[in-house]
Amino acid sequence: MGGSFVIPRRKKVMQPIPSPDPAEPTVFLVGAGPGNPGLLTVRAAEVLARADLVLYDQLVPVRLLDLANPAAEKVCVRDLPGTHPDKYPHIHEMLIRYGRAGKTVVRLKGGDPLVFGRGGEEAEALRTAGVGYEIVPGVTAALAAGAFLEIPLTHRNYASAVALVTGHELPNKPGNRLDWKALAAFPGTLCIYMGVARLPVIVAELLKYGKNPDTPSAIVERASTGEQRAVYARLADLEPARRNAGLEAPGLIVVGDPVAHRPVGAWWEARPLFGRRVLVTRPAHQAAGMVRRLEHLGAVVYRMPTVEIRDPADFGPLDRALAQVRDGGWDWVVFTSANGVHGFFRRLEALGRDLRDVGRVRFAAIGPKTADALREYRLRADVVPADAFSSEGLAAALAPHVGGQRVLLARANRGRDLVRTELAKAAAVVEQVTVYEQADAAVPDPGVLDALRRGEIRYVTLPSTRIAQNLLAGFDETIRGRVERGEIGLVAISPETGGAVRALGYPVATEATTFTADGLIDALIRLVRDEGEAIT
Ligand code: SAH
Repeated sequence: MGGSFVIPRRKKVMQPIPSPDPAEPTVFLVGAGPGNPGLLTVRAAEVLARADLVLYDQLVPVRLLDLANPAAEKVCVRDLPGTHPDKYPHIHEMLIRYGRAGKTVVRLKGGDPLVFGRGGEEAEALRTAGVGYEIVPGVTAALAAGAFLEIPLTHRNYASAVALVTGHELPNKPGNRLDWKALAAFPGTLCIYMGVARLPVIVAELLKYGKNPDTPSAIVERASTGEQRAVYARLADLEPARRNAGLEAPGLIVVGDPVAHRPVGAWWEARPLFGRRVLVTRPAHQAAGMVRRLEHLGAVVYRMPTVEIRDPADFGPLDRALAQVRDGGWDWVVFTSANGVHGFFRRLEALGRDLRDVGRVRFAAIGPKTADALREYRLRADVVPADAFSSEGLAAALAPHVGGQRVLLARANRGRDLVRTELAKAAAVVEQVTVYEQADAAVPDPGVLDALRRGEIRYVTLPSTRIAQNLLAGFDETIRGRVERGEIGLVAISPETGGAVRALGYPVATEATTFTADGLIDALIRLVRDEGEAIT
């Protein structure tokens, strides 16, 4: 027998299959890794995606919470009662309570849960309470520092061991279990966590017990992210070097000969957008791909969706059009965005119908992403303009095909009228139907506006004219001044969007030459390279 043919669903609506086995643990002690979302384990992403509760540490980057089930309750331990050590009973109590109720709980910690993460104590509390759990390891800070600074933590010639050390315990205090004499004599690399605030004492202890003052050393903060910063010095000079660079806690201290065996400029710091602070303004559900690529290129990404996508307020016209499609009333359906494709087929499915209804229809797509969206439904676009992704390109490519034909335009509630008016010159009938609505995001994120005002964000990406107009309408005089002085660069997806920005009196730093999100990022890379600018 042949395989079954399945219409792909949108990933968002895929539901996890509930576990039929009540004995399967629902509490997960999970390492979030050092901050770069790509370093989360597959298992961590799986359990996050179906969590009912995410209880996360303060140092876990909020960006990782994007990967959690949108419906999950998200609680930062900072918001539990008590100060640091008094919080633990509350954390344990919450894990036990939700675990007993059969809820899926993710206790999310930076790095690895069992490396200076008190994961062992939480596991013990759960075990004592008779609540099952699973531990998901994470990339600990020392390993992230090794990879992202290119320091080989072990080296055949220089280091035969690695020690993970807490810098939190004060020497010469009762209860201190660290033996600094032994650490000074340790034949390998010392990775000291939580030690930056006590750096002078740590250095003094190591030197006192005979560690070579010339030992190559480093401090790194936010290793593995676009905000990674590091200083290097001989051990004896590490504290003044830290002060000069203005590096503060938290950070990781690495002491050992392998530090000298890194290349000048690690691979990560050579990424084309490393350290650049970039604003992404796409609607939330469409931003993920762009955010991921920018992060991959080393950027620090801020997000402020200015337009949201939602179902049409009235499905009536679309439902009528879908019935006409089934009855052969339309020769062409034209899609001007991937959203349009998904809106159209989601509705077809919701009406209990399927692809056989569109068997005889031909499709036009405005660009490759729209054509890709059709392919998710195993459909091929008959016309995709080869040389442009604009409304003009689509109308020009389609015009020769539609003579005397009936054309349905499936599109957003607002947008340009150009395709309709152009096609109407040749086609017998052209009708527009709203398959999704774009709505202005009610309130611009005040945190992001502040970051723009402070000059923290260096580049703003403008992926459509609509979004650009919307965003710029929310800029005040301070932000406008920064744009005018070139301190904030506006990057437009097309000359059309660039023109709309200039019409509002703003300069445009650059325009994409391929009118897609990837084209926009490529333009940003070229801009950064041409500016050849140091990171500030
Ligand atoms: N469980 C974590 C450590 C928690 S203790 C892990 O396995 O990594 C917190 C300390 O971890 C910080 O004081 C700092 O020393 C270190 N740390 C965590 N993430 C870091 C990062 N991205 N870059 C540098 N140091 C980091």
